[in-house]
Amino acid sequence: MEINIIRGQNQIGGSIIEISSESTKIILDIGSNLEDKEIVVPEIDGLFKGEAKYDGVLISHYHSDHVGLATRILPDIPIYMGEKSYEIHKVSNEYMEREYLKEPKVFKVEEEFLIGDIKITPYLCDHSAFDAYMFLLDYEGKKILYTGDFRSNGRKSFEPLLRKLPKVDVLIIEGTNLSNNKIGKINLTERELEKKGIEILEGNDRPVFVLMAGTNIDRIVTLYKIANATKRLFLIDTYVGVITDTIGGNIPNPRTFSNVRIFLMNQDKYEILKNYPQNKIGKNEIANSNFMMCIRSSMKQYLENRSKEFSFEGCVLFYSMWEGYKKQENMKEFLEFMEEKGVKTISLHTSGHADEKDFDKLIKKIEPEIIIPVHTENSEWFKRYENCEVIYDKNIIKI
Ligand SMILES: [Zn+2]
Ligand SMILES: [Zn+2]
Repeated sequence: MEINIIRGQNQIGGSIIEISSESTKIILDIGSNLEDKEIVVPEIDGLFKGEAKYDGVLISHYHSDHVGLATRILPDIPIYMGEKSYEIHKVSNEYMEREYLKEPKVFKVEEEFLIGDIKITPYLCDHSAFDAYMFLLDYEGKKILYTGDFRSNGRKSFEPLLRKLPKVDVLIIEGTNLSNNKIGKINLTERELEKKGIEILEGNDRPVFVLMAGTNIDRIVTLYKIANATKRLFLIDTYVGVITDTIGGNIPNPRTFSNVRIFLMNQDKYEILKNYPQNKIGKNEIANSNFMMCIRSSMKQYLENRSKEFSFEGCVLFYSMWEGYKKQENMKEFLEFMEEKGVKTISLHTSGHADEKDFDKLIKKIEPEIIIPVHTENSEWFKRYENCEVIYDKNIIKI
């Protein structure tokens, strides 16, 4: 087999990895670069232009740095995605009126399938995206594990996954959290975050706002639990509402959870609100309730209007996203706006990516001969595994 890290080596995001056997060529993830404001399609012959020369593209999860270029590949190349992952990709992009994949092939947890002569087994893993996967690739007895993005601090237990994973020849592994400023940090778990949130709100009976990604389902659960424990209604707008309703089950959604209420930020989405006659909430009821409201930095005007109906003085804003976004102009402006209204910003976040102890456990379990770090700015960190060859200075590796 040949591994070609087309993009995503010694950088975070924009992952495109090619794996080929004698007769089969597949791509693992097809991400946009994180800093690209719009879709920029790289010049890759047989994938985006010319005659199709790939047999399939596997998508580990719906974050744009893994799926962002999927709508631009040649139409003859099949795309494979987890079922729920695809549904979230579809409804979130449809809502935002962005491009999305039309008819991918969906795979199921741990159900093996073939693309050409390469056998693939998808393993469900924990990440800040719901329904995220690692892929085990098997060809003539050689095994490659690609981790995609993963962590162990969510609500899915890491140990059962470790037990299932076999010994492999090559590990292609993410290392997002190995950037120099994060070395040595162990992630808080979502449960610890929940406890921290409840403690912060002790003695506070004012409304709470939360800035977060609407597709971070684990975090929605954590915040819902905090809202419940502190006797607040949990308010989500129609965007988050359609996402959690799509997942259903025990994920807080406005269809089956009586203390989850859905509000309208944008009149164009009124048709969506009409689907939730029991659980919709209007501005008057909001002004007279104690609540935790999930918001985005694009909601400034909506919040400006609400602040005329009730005072934001003494309210808390949980900042529940990557700290780096605070440097972006619109985020800076938004946080200043909330501060001027008398809202106190408090960070309440934990990483969606593995920490050092997670790497350690995984590598000790699967004993790879070769480690290929991707999605990281510190590939050298993996050199501590002396029994493994760590490759990050060339992108084509034959095994
Ligand atoms: Zn990623
Ligand atoms: Zn991700």
